[in-house]
Amino acid sequence: MDSWIDHWTSHGDIVEVDSPTITPEQVLVASGHVNEFNDLMVECGACTSAFRADHLVEGRHENPDSLSPDEVMVLLSQGVECPTCKQSKWSDVRAMNLMFRTQIGAMGGGRTAYMRPETAQGMFMLYPALFRHFKQKLPFGAIQTGKGYRNEISPRQGMIRLREFNMAELEYFIDPEDPPCPDLSAWDEPVTLVPDPDGEYAGERPMTFSEALSAGIVRHPTVAWFLARTMDFLTSVGIDPLRVRFRQHAGSEMAHYADDCWDCELLGEHGWVECVGIANRTCHDLLSHEQHSGSKLLRAWRQFDEPRSEARDVLAPNGASLGPAFKDRAGDVMEALQNLTE
Ligand SMILES: [Zn+2]
Repeated sequence: MDSWIDHWTSHGDIVEVDSPTITPEQVLVASGHVNEFNDLMVECGACTSAFRADHLVEGRHENPDSLSPDEVMVLLSQGVECPTCKQSKWSDVRAMNLMFRTQIGAMGGGRTAYMRPETAQGMFMLYPALFRHFKQKLPFGAIQTGKGYRNEISPRQGMIRLREFNMAELEYFIDPEDPPCPDLSAWDEPVTLVPDPDGEYAGERPMTFSEALSAGIVRHPTVAWFLARTMDFLTSVGIDPLRVRFRQHAGSEMAHYADDCWDCELLGEHGWVECVGIANRTCHDLLSHEQHSGSKLLRAWRQFDEPRSEARDVLAPNGASLGPAFKDRAGDVMEALQNLTE
C-alpha cells in the first residue's frame, strides 16, 4: 500500500485524502449507486441457497454480467443445477443492491446512509478543497486508500471477493479541451493488450502504449498514460510483465458515461483476474453531483490570457413587485424567471 501511495503522490499533482466511510444517501443517489449498484440474485427453491444469477450461467454466455434478469432466467431454466443441492428449481431473478445500509443520528431524526461501496465518491466530495489546494488549476488528482463495503450475495474465490476489503483509488481531473498528453516514447516494451472485442483490433496483441494510442485503440492520451504508469507500478512491486494484460471493455460492458475503460488483469491461480480498472469517466461524476446538490463548486474555470470586460443583458426579477402581484406563488415565479435562458 505504501508503494502505491508513493508511486502516485510522487507525481506532484496528486495528493492523498481521507474521507468518511459512512456516506449520506444523497451522495450515493447522485453517484447512481442507490439505483444501479446491483447484482442479479436468484434463490434455490429446494434448499433456499442464494446465488449470483450471472455466476450460475457462466460458460453459457460470454458476458453474463451484461444480461437482463429475464435473459438470465432463460439460461437458468436450461437445466442449470443448484451448486448446493443439485436441483433445478429457481426463484425469479431479481436485482439486489450491494450496499450496507445504516443510519446517521438516532430515532426519527436519523438519516439514511450507506457504508461506502468505493472510496472515489469521497474524492468528488472533496473536489472543491482539492481545486483550492491546487491553486484552481487543472490537471490534478487525489488518491485514497481504505475500506470499501459490498454486500456480496455469495462471496467466493477466497480473497478475491470479500464483503469488506481494502481499496486504493485515484481520481484525476483534467481539462477535456486541453488533456495532459505525456510523452509515451519512454515505454518502448510491448505489453499485452486485449482491445474491444467488437472493434477492428479484437484479440490479444502485444503493442506499446504509444502504438495503441496512435492506432486509436486507447481512445484518450491521459488514459494511455495511466495504463503506462500502472504497468510501471506493477513491475516495480515485482509482478512478472508476462502475467499482466490490459483488457478493454466492449461498448455493451462499459458504463453509459464512460468513454474508454480498461481492466488490468493478472494471471494467477484463479486465471486472469481484474486487479485495476482504468476509465475515462468524462465529467459524469462532478456533473451529477452538481445537479443533485445544486453546488456551484464542482467545476473548474479556464482563465483568459488577458482579462476581458463584457456587457451582458441579464434578467433580474424584482421581488418588491413580484411579491404583491403573485403572493405565495411569488417564489415559484421568481425561480421560473431565473431559469429562463436567452
Ligand atoms: Zn439448492
